[in-house]
Amino acid sequence: MAEYKDFNTELIHGGIYGDKYTKAVNVPIYQTSTYEQEGIGEEVKWEYSRTGNPTRAALEALIAELESGTDGFAFGSGMAALTAVLSLFKTDDRIIISKNVYGGTFRLLDKVFDHFGIKYSIEDTTDTDTLDKKIAPDVKAILVETPANPLLTITDLDAVSAVAKKHGLLFIVDNTFMTPYIQRPLEHGADIVVHSATKYLGGHSDVVAGLVAVKDKELAEKIAFIQNSSGGVLGPFDSFLLVRSIKTLSVRLDRHVENAEKIAEFLSNHKAVKKVYYPGLKDAQGYEINKKQAKNGGAMISFELYENYDIKKFFKSLKLVALAESLGGVESLVCHPASMTHASIPYEIRQKVGITDGLIRLSVGIESADDILNDLKNAISESEVK
Ligand SMILES: *Cc1c(COP(=O)(O)O)cnc(C)c1O
Repeated sequence: MAEYKDFNTELIHGGIYGDKYTKAVNVPIYQTSTYEQEGIGEEVKWEYSRTGNPTRAALEALIAELESGTDGFAFGSGMAALTAVLSLFKTDDRIIISKNVYGGTFRLLDKVFDHFGIKYSIEDTTDTDTLDKKIAPDVKAILVETPANPLLTITDLDAVSAVAKKHGLLFIVDNTFMTPYIQRPLEHGADIVVHSATKYLGGHSDVVAGLVAVKDKELAEKIAFIQNSSGGVLGPFDSFLLVRSIKTLSVRLDRHVENAEKIAEFLSNHKAVKKVYYPGLKDAQGYEINKKQAKNGGAMISFELYENYDIKKFFKSLKLVALAESLGGVESLVCHPASMTHASIPYEIRQKVGITDGLIRLSVGIESADDILNDLKNAISESEVK
C-alpha cells in the first residue's frame, strides 16, 4: 500500500490504483466467480470470488488505508458486516452497546445472536466511569456509534478505548455517520471499525454495502475466515461503485457539512424548534469531545418541534426533502426514527433513550442550502396548529 500524506490524495490514489495489465486508471470490474488454476496443489492468488475478488480487494485495501488500518473487508450490507464482526463471539459472551445504536444492530443482537446465547447490555457509553464499573467477566466487547443514531450523542473514543484495554475487551466502532474523512476510530484505540457503506461512502443512495477495517493481523485473519465461511461478500460491480464514490468523499462531505452547519444554526434559532441535536453546535452534548476526535460535527441533524406543530403534516409538507429511510446520499432525506429506523426498538426502551415520537432526523444533502432551508421553513409553518 502506498503512503500519501494527504487524505484527499489517498481517497483517489489509495488502496490499489488502476489495472496493471491494461494500464486502465480504474480497477476493472472483475465479474467472475472463479479463476483458472495452473495445476493441482499449486499456490494461487485468486481461486474463488467468495474468498477473494480483485475488484473487491481494491475496495478492501482502500478502506483499510483510509481508516489507518492494515486490513479491510467488504460485505453485502452494513448488517452483513456487523454479523461477521459479531460472529467473533461465543455463547455466554456479552457485548455492551451504546444507547441509541442503529435499530438494526439492536435487532440483530436482540433477535438473532440471542439464539446463540450471545448477550448484550445497553449502557451509557458517554459516562466512562460508570461504564468501567459495568464490566463483568462475561463482557467481551464494547460497540459504540459516535455520533449515535438518532440523538447524535458523542462518546469519547479515547476514554472508552482505555476501559476496553484495561479489561481486555474488543472495542468496535460503527463509523457510518462520520466516515474516515471526519473521524478515524482506529487512531483512537478502536480495534474494529464497521461501516454501512450504503450511506456516505456510497453517497448516492444507489448501493447497499458494508465495510470493516482492523489494524491487527491476527484479528484480520479471524474476520477473513468468517467472511469466507459465512459468505456475505460484496459483488464486483458494487465494489467498483464504492471505489468510484469514495474518490469524491471529501468534496461531497465538505458541502454536506457546510450545509448542515447552516441548517443546525437556523433550526436552533427557530421558535417552532424545541431541541436541536447536532454535535457541531457549541452547546451540544459532547461538543468538546467531538472536536478532539473528529474534524467536525458531520451532516446528520435531529430536532424536535414543539407540541403545537403537527409532525405528520410537517413530513407531508416537505417538497424537496424526501421522507425516506437511509442517509448520507447527495439528496437531503428526512425520517421519523420512532416509526422508521428505530421502530424495532420497543416503545419503553425508545422513551428511556430519548427517541420521542416528535423526533425528526435530517440527513443534509448537497443541494443548495437555501433551497433546503426554504423547504424546512415552509413545512414548519404549514404544520403549525392554530
Ligand atoms: C444503515 C446503518 C447500518 C446498517 O447498514 P445497511 O447497509 O443498511 O445494512 C448500520 N449502522 C448504522 C449506523 C447505519 O446507519
